[in-house]
Amino acid sequence: MGDLKLPDPFEDEIYDRPLLCDRCGKMLKYMGIGEYKCEACGYTQYDAYGLVRNYVERNPGVNVLKVEKVTGVSRKVINGMVKAGKLDIKAGSMKLAEEMHD
Ligand SMILES: [Zn+2]
Repeated sequence: MGDLKLPDPFEDEIYDRPLLCDRCGKMLKYMGIGEYKCEACGYTQYDAYGLVRNYVERNPGVNVLKVEKVTGVSRKVINGMVKAGKLDIKAGSMKLAEEMHD
């Protein structure tokens, strides 16, 4: 624990944090904004927030249902991220997601 630790505004909510590298099994290092990197092999992994964030960044204006389907992260968790101001999903598409069943 000798590393200089920067305050992370998202630290209070880390979703499904991966601890070990999927590729080589070594410890992952947290890089910030939901991203983790294996220092042994360079493999990058994401927690739920990282997955959702990446997808939303590549697909601006996407709605929550689509994000849930693609990332496998539940809508409830995604909604929480949106409410916390972590994701740029339009309020309108949130509403659309809620009303889609009728
Ligand atoms: Zn690795």
